Order: sequence, then structure tokens, then C-alpha cells
Amino acid sequence: MSSARLVLRPRREGRLLAGHPWVYRADVARLDGAWRPEEAVTVVDAGGRLVGRGFYSPRAQIVCRLATRADEPVDAAFFRRRLEAAWRFRQALAYDGDAGRLVASEGDRLPGLVVDRYADVLVLQAVTLGMEAHAAELAALAAEVAGARAVYRRVDPAAAAIEGLTGAAGWLLGEAAAEVEIREGPCRFRVDVTGGHKTGFYLDQRDNRPAVAALAAGREALDVFCYTGAFSAWLLVGGARRVAAIESSPDAAARARAHAVAHGGGGDRFTALEANAFDALRDLERSGRRFDLIVLDPPSFTRRKSAVAGALRGYKEINLRALACLRPGGLLATFSCSHHVSAPLFEEVCRAAAADAGRALRVRAAYRQAADHPVLLAVPETAYLKGLLLEVLD
Ligand code: SAH
Repeated sequence: MSSARLVLRPRREGRLLAGHPWVYRADVARLDGAWRPEEAVTVVDAGGRLVGRGFYSPRAQIVCRLATRADEPVDAAFFRRRLEAAWRFRQALAYDGDAGRLVASEGDRLPGLVVDRYADVLVLQAVTLGMEAHAAELAALAAEVAGARAVYRRVDPAAAAIEGLTGAAGWLLGEAAAEVEIREGPCRFRVDVTGGHKTGFYLDQRDNRPAVAALAAGREALDVFCYTGAFSAWLLVGGARRVAAIESSPDAAARARAHAVAHGGGGDRFTALEANAFDALRDLERSGRRFDLIVLDPPSFTRRKSAVAGALRGYKEINLRALACLRPGGLLATFSCSHHVSAPLFEEVCRAAAADAGRALRVRAAYRQAADHPVLLAVPETAYLKGLLLEVLD
């Protein structure tokens, strides 16, 4: 254990004592002692009292994320306890499938570490210097806890730039084919763990896909921003009359077509349009094409707080267009995964879109990220995916 102590400025410990693990650069008075990336430092308040322990990241604005508030070493035994707790939590969810998030960073009190499970392959992302220093050890422990045979490391370029990470993508443990077949309820998907978005698949929507598919029977559906067609496959299995999808990435659209065919979307029951969704929705609206169920699952539009206004205009625009393409009685399942757009703000955007579209909407359900992406009450940033199911009354 490191002897280094990160000493806070006076009255900067309140947020940390309340359970939020982030120490900002501006909170810090000084660092006493020798520091190494792989050793957790002890964070103390201005009076020298223990606040917690975590890895130090001198380049980032968030210079330390507390892994514990207790007086305990952050070592292999600590990691094992946290990983076992994370695994037990997932087991208790009794989820019908073999893919999901095993470690959700702050949500599992292993800040800076994300581990996803795709059948018997794990994908690990270390987004802080400290977690990166322990990547090989964490890979071995996670594989043991989850009974996995291989662990692939993905690199998040944004985090790498912020933290000064140098680790390369590749197999940390064992080796497997880049493409892994996973099961999600009645659906099966082929996931490229080395090159797909996020760690390969949008696992955070796994609870919402069956919820939306349960409403699909007999409906003509549109899956906008379909990626590899996970919602589309569920809608087909759920008995949608026809499913059309929109996706700008040709590779993702091709995968969506293959997935659709494997889930009953042969012939003209499924079509994937490779297009910019903003243009495609406007064209659909103009051409008079109408649907009974639309899924709108756009990318985050902004990672920066300063760009929120632009993102809100984008959300409003696509929701407005989608609402215009719904028949009376139609359903819109609309999502935002932006950290900077809160649930109330998102609702406000939907209200503005409905007003401009001239449609009366009933709120049928509210959605959030899958239960294996847990939210810490003290850490609002852990809640990022929000959605609404809106029914067009007229
Ligand atoms: N619903 C998907 C996840 C969607 S992620 C699922 O459940 O798996 C958002 C998708 O939108 C990505 O695949 C991205 O390639 C695509 N995308 C981003 N901008 C787009 C645009 N302007 N038009 C169409 N698709 C876009």
C-alpha cells in the first residue's frame, strides 16, 4: 500500500463523505509522499482524518476516485471481494440470457473499471490510470469469478486522452474469436467484441428491448438508430407485422439485416435503410409513410456539457419527426443516453416536440438503463439512460 496521502483543502470532504467518490483537482491542497499509479493513495481531509482510498490520476480533472471509504488496503483481496459482490448482484437478477455488464465502474464501487460479459468471453475497459495498472490482474480475477475463458481489453480513446493511458487493445487473458454469439431472451446476436460500439453491444438496453417488444404484436414498427438490429429482432419475435430500420453505419446495418433474417425478418418483413436518421425521418414524414410503433435510440449527441443546447435541438427534431410518422394509437419508445440530459430535461424536450407536432400523448412507461448497470443514489452520474413510452391519443 502506498504511503502517499492526498490532502484535501478545508471543507472539501463533504461530497466524498456523502458517498460521491470523485476528488476534483480543485479539492486538493497537496500530495504528500511518493506516488505510483498502481498504488492507492489515502485521501484525508484538511485535519488529517481518513476520507477514503483510491487511485491517483494527476492528469485528469477528477484526480482520484475513491474505491473505499474504509481503512483497508486496495489490493488483490479487495478487488476479489468487489468482483464477487458484483457477480452475486448479477446472479440475483436471474436474467434470461448470457450477456450483460459484470462491473459498472462507480455503480459497483470499482470506479474506472467496466467489465462486460458476452457468453464466456469478458471485455474489460480500464478508464483510469490505476485500473489500467491492474488490468491483467483484474482480468484474471474477473475471469475466475465469472467462469470466463478469455478477456479482451477495449480502449476508450476519450478516457485514454484524459488520463494518459497507454495500454493497447488486445487479449489480456486467453484468446477467442472476435465474434461471440450471445443470447438475450429468445434472441441471439453475433457481437464483435473487438470492433463494435461500446464493448460490442448496447447491453444497457437489454431490459427495455423485451418491454417494448411486448407491445409489438400486429404493429408496423420503425427502429431508428438500430445499430445491429437488437430492437428489430425483438420486435420481429414480438409479432410486429413489419419492421423498418434506419442506421447510418453500413456495417451495423448489414449486421442488422442478418440478425433480422435469423429472427423471422425474411422477405419484406424487415428492411434496413442506410441513412442519416434526420433526413430519413423527414423523408418518411413527407412521403406519408406511417407506423404504429417507433423506437428512437439515438447516440448521445454530446459528451460535453457545453454542447447540451445543440443536443437538445437534435433530440427535439427527431422526436418531432417520429411523432409525425405515427398513426393515432401509435407508440413512441424514445431514449436518451446522454449524461448531460436529465430525465426531467428529456421529458421537457419530448413535451416541446409533441407541442410542435400537435399531438396529444399519454405517458405509458418510463425506462432506464438495465438493472446490471446499477445506479448509486449518491452518484447521479451513474444514471444516464432514460426513456419514455408515449402513446399518441390523437
Ligand atoms: N438501438 C441500438 C443502439 C443504438 S446506438 C441497440 O439496441 O443495439 C445509436 C446508433 O445510431 C449507432 O449504431 C450509430 O451508428 C447510429 N447513428 C449515429 N448517428 C446517426 C444518424 N445521424 N443517423 C442514423 N444513425 C446514426
